[in-house]
Amino acid sequence: GYRSRAAYKLEQLNETAGLVQSGDTVVDLGAAPGGWLQVAHELAGEGGTVVGVDLQRIKPLEGVETVRGDMTEEETRERIKHALDGEEADVVVSDMAPNMSGEYSLDHARSVYLARMAFETACELLGPGGDFVAKVFDGPDLNDLKRDVEREFDYVREVRPEASRKESSELYLVAKRRLTAPVRVGD
Ligand code: SAM
Repeated sequence: GYRSRAAYKLEQLNETAGLVQSGDTVVDLGAAPGGWLQVAHELAGEGGTVVGVDLQRIKPLEGVETVRGDMTEEETRERIKHALDGEEADVVVSDMAPNMSGEYSLDHARSVYLARMAFETACELLGPGGDFVAKVFDGPDLNDLKRDVEREFDYVREVRPEASRKESSELYLVAKRRLTAPVRVGD
């Protein structure tokens, strides 16, 4: 069994968007207790690499490396790069969510901030053609983030997995195929 019901969301996102292939290197941000890590490890297989990051301790999982750290701190990105041993990631996923205050506009703004931290991390870790997924609570700040993500990827979709339906404000930005850094002619 999976460590969390959230596992089914990653399965559904993967079915919808074709994210993790056998042999892939996957980075999972906000990974505790580890349901997404279990799914990512199944999909990437023994030849793949899966790294999970969270503020909370993640109980050890066969075939998965974990980093305990805060994604709002630069140092955590460096520790992820160290765990990847210089390898580029094929897929970066984030299921990070803030502690809920109950005040919608605040929870929305915090979730967009975490998704932006995940996006910036993805830009540093992903190779060309890599995919990025981030959870965000819908609201007025989403469009700015989405526009910035669109610049870096072939296309971006908003996906609401069936497993998320009850939490009606939750959606995932799914960004496919990181664009290669543009070559500047004449430089
Ligand atoms: N996908 C996970 C699974 O399948 O088990 C569930 C993730 S849970 C919905 C959200 C996680 O985001 C929490 O474990 C929380 O600690 C983590 N989180 C929130 N803010 C974070 C931050 N700044 N840095 C790292 N992790 C964070």
